[in-house]
Amino acid sequence: MDQIPYGMQCITDDDIKEVVTVLKSNWITTGPKVEEFEKSLCKYIGCNFATAVNSGTSALDIAVQTLNLEKGSEVITTPFTFAATANSIIYNNLTPVFADIEKETRNINPNELMEKITEKTKAIIYVDYAGQPCDINEIKKIANENGLFLIEDACHALGSKYYGKNVGNFADMTIFSFHPVKHITTGEGGAVITNNSEFDRELKILRNHGIDKDLHKRQAKMDYAYDIRRLGRNYRITDFQSALGISQLKKLDGFLNKRLKLVELYSKRLSEVDFLELPTAKSSVKHAWHIYTILLDKQIDRDEFF
Ligand SMILES: *Cc1c(COP(=O)(O)O)cnc(C)c1O
Repeated sequence: MDQIPYGMQCITDDDIKEVVTVLKSNWITTGPKVEEFEKSLCKYIGCNFATAVNSGTSALDIAVQTLNLEKGSEVITTPFTFAATANSIIYNNLTPVFADIEKETRNINPNELMEKITEKTKAIIYVDYAGQPCDINEIKKIANENGLFLIEDACHALGSKYYGKNVGNFADMTIFSFHPVKHITTGEGGAVITNNSEFDRELKILRNHGIDKDLHKRQAKMDYAYDIRRLGRNYRITDFQSALGISQLKKLDGFLNKRLKLVELYSKRLSEVDFLELPTAKSSVKHAWHIYTILLDKQIDRDEFF
């Protein structure tokens, strides 16, 4: 039997050429390609700042760390996501609190979310499940009324839109992953997007050990000294990965169209199967279709079906 893989990257000769060019150059990490990749992400999304890192998990970690929340504070998130979402809360000595999802979209339910707010709640991390943006206006309203920070885990949702505006422009910080199963790939990689210059500065410090000046600025000023302001880690992405990212990003719209075509095909063919409930996209969103999740009705066992 032919198995359909869970995900498959699409890397072509033009991508490979860009990577090889960097490998043949003198600068293979934290050089001009990282900045160029960040600029092209900003241009695509229409936002001010991007910090590229070595994974989506690292991106989540430094986004939470940037908020500087008091130990033991609560962060509300969804239970229906990849483990990294809640792990990023635990890495930072904070407590994840789960709010249940809506059946239709499998996204966090704003009413459930509201019920989980306590005096200790400081932030919300919501996930655009499968590539369908959450009910962001509702979530923002709750966050504003309760003074909460918002992080959007959009690892499923690169290229998606909410009321015509690109995801990446709504929360305080938005996270993307460039793992091969995602929309574009850098092998491993991720990014934090923000429109807040203070957050951006902090994110760039945290991805590089907590060092407060980058190497280029130190070299330009002939300045050897730097301070380590925070407990940062090495979450840097390489220049050859960034070169792949720049090249892949140019093809993102084509990748999204291909996914949409496949979804239309699945939905057409699977609508003939009566025990399946098929996924749908709300009219308010452009769905990025990272995954196509079906619901089985009660007459069939999930494991048996699988
Ligand atoms: C893929 C993914 C991550 C983690 O990204 P990596 O690049 O694999 O570290 C985090 N959250 C969600 C929702 C994801 O799908």
